[in-house]
Amino acid sequence: MVDPLLDLDDSLDILIEEGRISHIAPRIEKEGAYLLEAQGKVVVPGLIDMHVHLRDFNESQKETIATGTRAAAMGGYTTVVCEPNSNPPLDTLENLQQWIKLAQRDGYVNLHTKVCISQGRHGEKLTHLKALVRRPWVVAATDDGNPVVNDNVMARAFAKARDYDVLLTPHCEESPATIQAFRANPLKVWEMLREMEGLVDGADPNPAHTGLARLEELGVLKGIVTWRWTRRINRKSRMSAVPMVAES
Ligand SMILES: [Zn+2]
Repeated sequence: MVDPLLDLDDSLDILIEEGRISHIAPRIEKEGAYLLEAQGKVVVPGLIDMHVHLRDFNESQKETIATGTRAAAMGGYTTVVCEPNSNPPLDTLENLQQWIKLAQRDGYVNLHTKVCISQGRHGEKLTHLKALVRRPWVVAATDDGNPVVNDNVMARAFAKARDYDVLLTPHCEESPATIQAFRANPLKVWEMLREMEGLVDGADPNPAHTGLARLEELGVLKGIVTWRWTRRINRKSRMSAVPMVAES
């Protein structure tokens, strides 16, 4: 049994009574108890997945809140956080309300969601973050697979995040849509390739670099970036004392 919070890593017995863990000890004897042999298995507290795509709405053929959260439970995940890149996206109160209705009806584990930073996840106009993040279930804002490429839009999102105490989890990797935009402009492609080459040489990845600079400028409280160059970001984040973590 492993529990980092309890500093536990041991072979133990667990007694479950009326659906709840009532006792954990090296050896438990309980008359009439049904014995589940878990030798060779690892028992951990319920896992949390901060980034899941539950689809539903117009893409229910791929996944629904019901099937996704049941699969989560099967895999040991007791809390999941849904990304807002559904179709339609979670960028308005109306869509969010619809999602909450489904979540209340079909959610099988502890369920939360993120809302969009920009309308339609196009990175142009911000959503009404203030209203969206005050709704129950909402824990963060992101455009998921679409990075917000416009510096000014992202800067305003960071400022709002600070004002409303919102966790932002921007996706800093180029999406197919942004790469497509670059393709329309050969000069941009060249710049992008140079940028990628620069990565190998140790230059900072552009969107994340911009994000960090903005965080420093605005004194934003929290931020999580999803980025392949995790170690680089973490190193820079430590250096600049920006409260940020990165995951790949
Ligand atoms: Zn995603």
